Amino acid sequence: MLSKVVIANRGEIALRILRACRELGIRTVAVHSTADRDLMHVRLADESVCIGPPPANQSYLSIPAIISAAEITDAVAIHPGYGFLAENADFAEQVEKSGFIFIGPRPDNIRQMGDKVSAIKTMKALGIPCVPGSDGFVGEEGDEAATLHMAREIGYPIIVKAAGGGGGRGMRVVHTESHLMNAIAMTRTEALAAFNNDKVYMEKYLENPRHIEIQVLADGQGRAIHLGERDCSMQRRHQKVIEEAPAPGITPEQRAAIGERCAAACRNMQYRGAGTFEFLYENGEFYFIEMNTRVQVEHPVTEMITGIDIVREQLRIAAGEPFTLTQDDVHIRGHAIECRINAEDPRSFMPCPGTITHFHAPGGPGIRVDSHIYSSYKVPPHYDSLIAKIIAHGDNRDIALARMRIALDETVVDGIKTTLPLHQDIMRGTSFQRGMVNIHYLEKWLNQ
Ligand code: ADP
Repeated sequence: MLSKVVIANRGEIALRILRACRELGIRTVAVHSTADRDLMHVRLADESVCIGPPPANQSYLSIPAIISAAEITDAVAIHPGYGFLAENADFAEQVEKSGFIFIGPRPDNIRQMGDKVSAIKTMKALGIPCVPGSDGFVGEEGDEAATLHMAREIGYPIIVKAAGGGGGRGMRVVHTESHLMNAIAMTRTEALAAFNNDKVYMEKYLENPRHIEIQVLADGQGRAIHLGERDCSMQRRHQKVIEEAPAPGITPEQRAAIGERCAAACRNMQYRGAGTFEFLYENGEFYFIEMNTRVQVEHPVTEMITGIDIVREQLRIAAGEPFTLTQDDVHIRGHAIECRINAEDPRSFMPCPGTITHFHAPGGPGIRVDSHIYSSYKVPPHYDSLIAKIIAHGDNRDIALARMRIALDETVVDGIKTTLPLHQDIMRGTSFQRGMVNIHYLEKWLNQ
């Protein structure tokens, strides 16, 4: 097993990784900015290294600072968590060149999936169903006629998307031809500013899909399994707010069929570690949109229904331990739901950093809380506003929902505004209780 791991992240995921390391007897190094010296995992880690001032580009995004921290602490591997450098192929490459193990896929796989156009091309070639689209970049000088022709073939509405996009940004829906070229130009400008990459492509805009994704685990040597699907249709501004597993209405046959295709694609790519194939699902069909080459925020719902610890498996695979899990070991038991609690105003969604004067976490059968906060913890203004994930598991969806309602009512976060009241309202909303909501449900519900 690995002797010592640097946790190159913060917040709840850093604590989650620390717990998995401890269970496996791995020593841990927390790296943190000056704003984060009071983080729970920094207190609990065997060692900690301050890597810079609060702005992420001078700390959590600083490749030399993180690799130096591994160097001076004699660590052997680096876990990137999610966000920050987790899907940065250059980082993974430099980690490996510096003699450390990157806990994630090979850099070439990260690079291939990081560009959504190359990801779609790869998946198409591997037999994964994709959204009809341009199959290449659009908006280059002189290709206007070809672009308009292609858009007609795809059929309106069309969504223009940034090839290097993420976090639900860099997308624009176009309903009529007269708006297309302008939308492409605007998306390019925005994408350059946000992602330092102005490449954009077109896809058919599916009007009422659900977002359903498949979790995979692979050993980098041609063995791969899937852990079923998650439904992440409850979104605001294309960002997930609530996730659940399994996806309501998906049959075991559908799960096996799409899951096996994803696992086969991983075998083909010699994919290593945990990954997620994201799909839109409409009229009984799956359409691939992108692959995330890291652990997802919503991984706990899969862990709750399969009993498989995804972070532990990431660590075992990185250590080169034999991958003994087979598809027959994966059994789906019951239903799990996750609510993301953010330090935000529940109406305006404006971030609300500040001091948590009192925190009480819920408990009881089937309840899991992944959170780094504690009473007197000060939420800094510099980073993502996620402060807790509350996960409820039960033998069926109704029980999971009931447990979630009770858990949310028990939770106390005083001193700052949070999205807790929003989740309490949603869990009582009748459509969500029925299940099978599409990606527009939450925005419509918020605007009513
Ligand atoms: P990001 O990498 O920014 O998360 P994704 O490609 O994963 O972007 O898409 C995020 C969300 O945007 C999807 O879950 C869905 O709500 C919406 N979306 C993306 N592509 C389409 C499409 N072709 N049609 C309809 N909605 C889409």
